[in-house]
Amino acid sequence: MEFVEMREGLARILVPKAERIYDAPVFYNPVMALNRDLSVLAVDILKPRKVLDALSATGIRGVRYALETPAGEVWLNDISEEAFNLILKNVRLNLGVEGVRIGDGRVSFRNGKEVVANRDDANRLMAEKFRYFDFLDLDPFGSPVGFLDTALRSVRRKGVLAVTATDTGVLCGAYRNACLRKYLAEPLRGELCHEAGLRILIGTVVRYAAKYDLGVEVLLAYHRDHYFRAFLRLKSGARNADESLSNLGYLWQKKNGEFGYERAVLPKKPGAHGPLWLGPLKDEDFARRMLTLAGEKTLAHGKTLLFLELLAGELDVPFFYDTHALARRNGLGVMKVSRLIEALEELGYRATRTHFSPTAVKTDAPFQEVVGVLKSTR
Ligand code: SAM
Repeated sequence: MEFVEMREGLARILVPKAERIYDAPVFYNPVMALNRDLSVLAVDILKPRKVLDALSATGIRGVRYALETPAGEVWLNDISEEAFNLILKNVRLNLGVEGVRIGDGRVSFRNGKEVVANRDDANRLMAEKFRYFDFLDLDPFGSPVGFLDTALRSVRRKGVLAVTATDTGVLCGAYRNACLRKYLAEPLRGELCHEAGLRILIGTVVRYAAKYDLGVEVLLAYHRDHYFRAFLRLKSGARNADESLSNLGYLWQKKNGEFGYERAVLPKKPGAHGPLWLGPLKDEDFARRMLTLAGEKTLAHGKTLLFLELLAGELDVPFFYDTHALARRNGLGVMKVSRLIEALEELGYRATRTHFSPTAVKTDAPFQEVVGVLKSTR
């Protein structure tokens, strides 16, 4: 394998030379530096002691956790032998020490903190390390559902689970049957599909967690590029699990774009999308702390700070009105988002931009008011 050396955050990282990222024998996507920046910020704030990067590929994520956060013990795991060998190289390169073999396919590096490189099926490792990790990162190809059960048992009962899902086509309704199979949920197509997809993903984790008497609190969740990401704090106890389940429900959308949602175990009328999470997509304090820290740290991706500003400033209500979609659906003119926000605020409503779409507004104004403002531009 031929390598090129990259820099990301404080890490130097060898990645395989390849024409296209999906052709490489070990996966590295520089676009995901933003995902890793936000993860490093989250770990820095949460101060977990033991961290697992369960699906590590080149090791970049775990290496950054080791270099850029106070975590004391960081595990980097991958099932692929090529990935494991590259993880060993990259840990050595960044920690400047040789590793000591501590088991079959398991090498420990110590340089102030312990870094363990591990070659195994993530499910087997997580089953072995029962209630061990304070922060567990699942960053798979596609859906994380195949790893959720073991992850929920491997993370400590007040720990944090960070999940990525890159099966956006499935969660956004392009492959309805796949969404039913993987998430047991009815997806939605159209302008709300990304927020619905993110909420289906969170709702699925909530259902998986509930059987272990674990509740879920969303610290921060978002959609970007081709993926969904959620930082989820677990809360121990049947009452917390019940409380989280009570935030599951269904979404309906009419042809004119009007939507409604309802918290319920089963849908009460036809045409429902879900089950999906209807609770908050962020903890306001956590998002503000992430933003403050992002202003102080050197980040790897040029857009991380701006994106975090958008997330932190976003009104946290379910779903939004997209000016382009509403115009198309109702034969209206398009209005600038900034003007729509101003007009809604003048009427006494709250309204902000949303990271889900540059042409959309999150607001507590009812549909008729929003359409009323759009009509007034004619
Ligand atoms: N986290 C990495 C990053 O930030 O660059 C990217 C991970 S890549 C999307 C997914 C990785 O999961 C691949 O390297 C693949 O070899 C590994 N993988 C797939 N199935 C696995 C399993 N069952 N156990 C452990 N690793 C697995």
